[in-house]
Formats: sequence, C-alpha cells, structure tokens
Amino acid sequence: METTVPETEERLTAPTVTQEDESIELSLRPKALNEYIGQDKAKENLRVYIQAARGRTEALDHVLLYGPPGLGKTTLAGIISNEMGTNLRVTSGPAIEKAGDLAALLTNLNQGDILFIDEIHRLSRQVEEVLYPAMEDHVIDIIIGKGPAARSIRLDLPPFTLVGATTRTGNLSAPLRDRFGVILRLELYTPEQLGLIIRRSAEILGIGIDRDGSLELAARARGTPRIANRLLKRARDFAQVAGKDTIDVESARTALVAMEIDELGLDSIDRRVLLTMIEQYNGGPVGLETIAATIGEEAVTIEDVYEPYLLQIGFLGRTPRGRIATPAAYAHLGKRYPSQILPEDTIAFEGI
Ligand code: ADP
Repeated sequence: METTVPETEERLTAPTVTQEDESIELSLRPKALNEYIGQDKAKENLRVYIQAARGRTEALDHVLLYGPPGLGKTTLAGIISNEMGTNLRVTSGPAIEKAGDLAALLTNLNQGDILFIDEIHRLSRQVEEVLYPAMEDHVIDIIIGKGPAARSIRLDLPPFTLVGATTRTGNLSAPLRDRFGVILRLELYTPEQLGLIIRRSAEILGIGIDRDGSLELAARARGTPRIANRLLKRARDFAQVAGKDTIDVESARTALVAMEIDELGLDSIDRRVLLTMIEQYNGGPVGLETIAATIGEEAVTIEDVYEPYLLQIGFLGRTPRGRIATPAAYAHLGKRYPSQILPEDTIAFEGI
C-alpha cells in the first residue's frame, strides 16, 4: 500500500485554486450574467434583484453564495459588481485577522460598492461582531485608546453590498447567516454545461476543440468549471505534442489516461477513499474522521473537496452511522458487493 498522499493542491482534479489557475482564471471569468453558464435558478433570481436595486438606485441586498470550491462564486461576485456598475473589493475570512482590518476595509468603501469575502465561515468572532452593525445599519463602532481611557465612536458607512462565499452554510453562525437578504446555493454543473464552458474557454485561449472532445473532458471534470478549464489546458498540451491543432476525442482521451483520470473523473485519491471504505471497513458505515485518518487527509478536505462529487454520482452514501460505499462504487472499482450490508444502510443514501 502507498503511504504518501499527494498534496491536494497538486491534484489535477482538485477544485481548489493552483498558481497556474490564478494567472489564467482572470481571463476566463465571465463578466456579465448572460455569459455565466448554468446555475439558472441562482442567475435568474440575481437578475431580478440586481434590476430592482438598480431601478431604486439602492445598494443590492447582502448576498451569500454557497457550494463546493471551483463552481463560480468569485466569478459571480465580479459579475454582480459589473452589473451593478460599482467597485469590487476582494478579501477572505482568514485574511481579516483583526477587527481593525475589517474596519479599514469598510471605511474605504464607496456608495454601492461590493465587498466580497471568500471563506466567510472562517472569520473570527470578534471580526464578525464588527460586521453585524455594518451589514444591518451601515455603521461601525471603533474603540479609540486603551484601558480606562478607551472610548467608542460610531462611524457611518455608505450603503454597500457584502457578498460572502462559503463551502458550507452549516459552519456560519446563525446571526451572520440571518443578515444576508439573498442566499444562493450553487450546484455542481452537468456535463453539457461544462462542455459549453470548455468551448467558451477554448475560444478565449485560442485552442481548437471539437464537440466530442469537449464533452469527453466535461464528463470527467467532476461537475466543476475550474477542473474543466484545467483539463482543457492539459489536453491542449497533449494535442500540440501530437501535432494536432484541434483537441478531438482521441487526444482528450490520451490526455485523460496520462493524467490517470478515469471515465467518471475519479483520480487516485477518490479511488483510495472508496477502496479504503470497501477493503478496510467492509463498505462502511465508517466515520469521516476514520476515513481521513486512514488515508492521511483532513476530514474537512474530504468533506468539501472529494465528497460532493462522490455523493452526486451515487458512489457514497451518508447514514446516521457514517459513510457507506454504494453498490455502484463497488461495481466501478470491480469489487463484489457483500450481501451482509443491512437494508437500512442501503436505503438511507442521501444526496447533497
Ligand atoms: P469559486 O470562487 O467558487 O471557487 P471561481 O469563481 O473562482 O470559483 O471559478 C473558477 C473558474 O471557473 C473561473 O476561472 C471561471 O472561469 C470558471 N467558471 C466558474 N463558473 C463559471 C460559469 N458559470 N461559466 C463559465 N465559467 C465559469
């Protein structure tokens, strides 16, 4: 058995940002709502809220976006600011260490500006407390001085819109969640939608790709645009070295085989999660922490990064007693499904 586990960042199918992504994502990000593919429900609701806020020349209500990484939350924040015609300030929960950091950001906002806070569930309690009156009444209380001489002054802020992004609403404190007027959940994309995203990206990057080639990559991108764009770039390398100027299904497949991504988009770590459950825990139920410890990953990483897709394709089930590998997972890995799994475990499968 292998003992070393590659870093999440190195996984080609990790939905989290790599350095290479960062440089190229800027050019691939749709700028307007009608360039944003999929997420129809979230998009249509946003369109109405934006139009209404613009009609009243008011700031848009605060928006919370949630869903797994790489689904387009940052992109949507940029689109909101473009559509509202206001500035966008981007920061993240872990970057705002002290209440003063947030106060500095807030007091620099102009009327109607969008403040995007990624990973908003990672804000500290003290910072969150500064955010409440800012979101609700557009004021902040600043403490000046120390000890007995300290006094608090209240500053007015211009009306602004906070766009928060999180992979999990469950980790957000209730008072913070309640202060968002609009809460939108982003879903994993269908292969057809990812195919469109890939063709759009290919056009921007000047890469030739035919329809079947794009669908082949799309089917293996785990429902995630960030991964779809990354597979496109790697497939381009393989096509180029083979002397082709267009990515067809054959060059897409060659690239995917070389990258060890199987026909469902699973990579070696996904297979390891499932194999651990099947071979060491008899298919489960097994706790997330136990799986994580066995394969040497963080439980939160498994939950945020690996699980959503495995749940979506029906390879993993959640039961009150832990995770279970489904018959479909056994079949995919060429394992025989044991008959002793209790019926109540198999009917308790739960999607995301
Ligand atoms: P998140 O903030 O949820 O991690 P991002 O907004 O950074 O995700 O999106 C990752 C990449 O995927 C972006 O570079 C963008 O080009 C692409 N992308 C995401 N959603 C869409 C979409 N709906 N249509 C087209 N491209 C998208």
